[in-house]
Amino acid sequence: MNLDRQLANAAQRVLEAQAPMKVLAAEDNPVSQSMLRTMLTKWGYEAVIARDGNEAWQALQADDGPRLAVLDWMMPGLDGVEVCRRVRAVSREPYVYLVLLTARTDSQDLVEGMDAGADDYLTKPFEAHELRVRLRAGRRVLDLQQQLLAAREALREQANHDYLTGLLNHGAILETLHNELARASREQQPIALLMADLDRFKSINDTHGHQGGDAVLCEATRRMKSAIRRYDALGRYGGEEFLFVLPGCQGADAFAQAERIREALAAEPFTVGNRAFPVTCSIGVACRTLPGAGEADVLVQEADTALYRAKSLGRNQVTMASVMAQGGA
Ligand code: GH3
Ligand code: MG
Ligand code: MG
Ligand code: MG
Repeated sequence: MNLDRQLANAAQRVLEAQAPMKVLAAEDNPVSQSMLRTMLTKWGYEAVIARDGNEAWQALQADDGPRLAVLDWMMPGLDGVEVCRRVRAVSREPYVYLVLLTARTDSQDLVEGMDAGADDYLTKPFEAHELRVRLRAGRRVLDLQQQLLAAREALREQANHDYLTGLLNHGAILETLHNELARASREQQPIALLMADLDRFKSINDTHGHQGGDAVLCEATRRMKSAIRRYDALGRYGGEEFLFVLPGCQGADAFAQAERIREALAAEPFTVGNRAFPVTCSIGVACRTLPGAGEADVLVQEADTALYRAKSLGRNQVTMASVMAQGGA
């Protein structure tokens, strides 16, 4: 998916997530509470009422809690300023926009409130219209931040993924391997690495054109993905080379898994346009059974050597790295 499309989808998700937006109204006075509830509902918000500071803090901590809050300054338990301080101390994303309500009018009070982390400030008694526009301003800030987060997420996605197949790219699959090796070592679990390479891919390109070759890469990706478990990782290591990281897998299991992947390609011919033709791959398998034995690059080297052997033995087959190498270190 291209970046524009990803951004458009992200923006759409933001819009959908907004209707209607939750607004926390924290107020200990029952009359003001019901007034706030009525106003918020009339303006199209979902009102979440807290009767004191502790309830407000609880509500704001919830995973899908309100991101926009109107906090009375004077409340039993935690006061509004203390709630502001706590929200800012955890500084989580997405941002929470805080409006303080107070009867105090000193500029020193205003400074204290804003210093504690309030974004805005309204003096009681306030005009309903004024609260309404301040909430709207807060909502604009939250919208902008949501769009920024979505853009950052889309960029991160793009930086880690291969454009053609959507798989993890070279850097990302190696990072996954590093992480999974560290985890395997910690948990004393085995791990297997498979390196697969499409056979005679150059001649596929020559016969069906580069676009045909690309279509084969995408179909091969789809089949390989369908042959692995959800917690296995698959990445595009290079042009027509793929790396599989299989946590908890070793020896005969790793071999069997590689065979399933090989078979997923070889079982049915590929179709490009109206032409059907066979596509196969060769796979080298390297395993780590000893916790902490060997680095990622050693494992990659072993899988690569095993793959080279599969090629020289005639292709469309799986070869294990030598047992000697499996002991590592
Ligand atoms: P072998 O069985 O020994 O692996 O033979 P091969 O032809 O697959 O070997 P080689 O690695 O020499 O060729 C790989 C080819 O893959 C060369 C390159 O042009 C092609 N290729 C690399 N990336 C892409 C891509 O993104 N799209 C297409 N269509 N072709 C690509
Ligand atoms: Mg009060
Ligand atoms: Mg090849
Ligand atoms: Mg190759």
